[in-house]
Amino acid sequence: MDSSKLHVAILSSPGMGHLIPVLVLGNRLATHHNIKITILAITTSSSLTETQFLKKSHEKETIEIIPIPSVDISHLIDSSTKLFTRFRILVREALPEIRSVIASMTHRPNALIVDIFCTQILPIAEEFNIPKYAYHPTTSWTLALFIYCQVFDKEIEGEYVDLKEPLKIPGCKALRPEDVVDPMLDRRNQQYEEYVKLGVEYTHFDGVLINTWEDLEPETIKALRNNDKLRSVLKVPDYPIYPIGPLRRTVEIAERDEVIQWLDKQNLESVVFVSFGSGGTLSSQQMTELAWGLELSQQKFVWVVRPPSDGDADSAYLNSGGNDTRTALEYLPEGFITRTKDMGLVVPMWAKQVEILSHSSVGGFLSHCGWNSTIESLTNGVPMIAWPLHAEQRMNATMLAEELGVAIRPAVLPTKKVVWREEIQGMMRILMQTKEGKCIREKAKKLKMSAKNALSEGGSSYNSICGLVKNICTR
Ligand code: UDP
Repeated sequence: MDSSKLHVAILSSPGMGHLIPVLVLGNRLATHHNIKITILAITTSSSLTETQFLKKSHEKETIEIIPIPSVDISHLIDSSTKLFTRFRILVREALPEIRSVIASMTHRPNALIVDIFCTQILPIAEEFNIPKYAYHPTTSWTLALFIYCQVFDKEIEGEYVDLKEPLKIPGCKALRPEDVVDPMLDRRNQQYEEYVKLGVEYTHFDGVLINTWEDLEPETIKALRNNDKLRSVLKVPDYPIYPIGPLRRTVEIAERDEVIQWLDKQNLESVVFVSFGSGGTLSSQQMTELAWGLELSQQKFVWVVRPPSDGDADSAYLNSGGNDTRTALEYLPEGFITRTKDMGLVVPMWAKQVEILSHSSVGGFLSHCGWNSTIESLTNGVPMIAWPLHAEQRMNATMLAEELGVAIRPAVLPTKKVVWREEIQGMMRILMQTKEGKCIREKAKKLKMSAKNALSEGGSSYNSICGLVKNICTR
């Protein structure tokens, strides 16, 4: 079949960190391959940013977006229900609506691509006999862990975090117990069970797309393609692996807001952008230390501030941008804004991150290492201070700091202990003022080129997307 006659539906889990990569993928397939795209976006009612983002995408994209309203799950969860479990329940409860939307489509999709938390759609794809692909919007290392965790589950006793040896994923880098993804931290919690199930569901798809590229993770991608032990968990014989990244949003040429105008006045690569993704939060004490660390460092900064949370670091995830931006600044140390008025800018709740990271004045990114943020940094050649909070971010931080050499990080995990102001001050200085920082920046710039090559015509990710389209056409 000719690719211009294809119709592909993409299903996105709630949360900006999921919606953004799905929209970018949809755009890429629509604009580069002329494919009709329908995005089914499971929404959250509490996120103002998400609502606005969807509305804006609706206005200008060449793709159709069908919001799937979130179902009230309050009777199925309580305050102790972890984020991973909430995601799974939200998607599970949305399935009847998703099914009826697909059933009512006059042009039935030729393929269904589903984002990480939507793998429970399998029976619906099978019922309508639609080829199905999983979209893993993060690294291939985490994908290998996802699918192989079912083996660890059978072979390993006790908590993973208590292991003395790293976990050995066949053909891949070993994984330190302290770096395991959040759902693996406590095997008695429901989110662990959901995580293992999700990993099994992945193996029933007709292939997987990964938002990474060959040169970034050559060893892991090779293992996913060829390592018999790792591939023994796959239920589909020739399960193809498509590294199609790094896909990220492009810069919007919109009005130059206050932040961009301020950046315009700063020196080349002199500013550190500080942000913890769409929903990462710090404890009150950590927020105070960070404020002092930034102030003492005397480096220029732009900091996206949201109110602290002394509970889970991901507590604001399904509420990105919140609905009340007034309170965020009230938690900063007294006088901070006045004292730092010539050094930095504080942005409550949400900033135009892609535009900021693409600005030539930005020379560093203190980040929670969410994968979208990471690739937005690397594709701009911006080195990082890795400050992992939740999900798979510890793995990302380890890869960035220890393997790729494009980040520095605190001596202790920020989720385990407070990172004190002196250490923050020190990291800011190392990144922005020392030879070590320069060396890290050079490595980040090399990755920027490697990413660009991967996506250019004839590059590995470009070819991989073409391979995916061909695979769909031949089904
Ligand atoms: N983001 C943004 N402005 C903000 C915070 C986040 O535009 O103030 C965007 C960011 O550019 C990225 C996404 O939200 O595309 C966050 O995704 P990521 O995977 O980095 O982290 P998550 O939010 O899923 O933890």
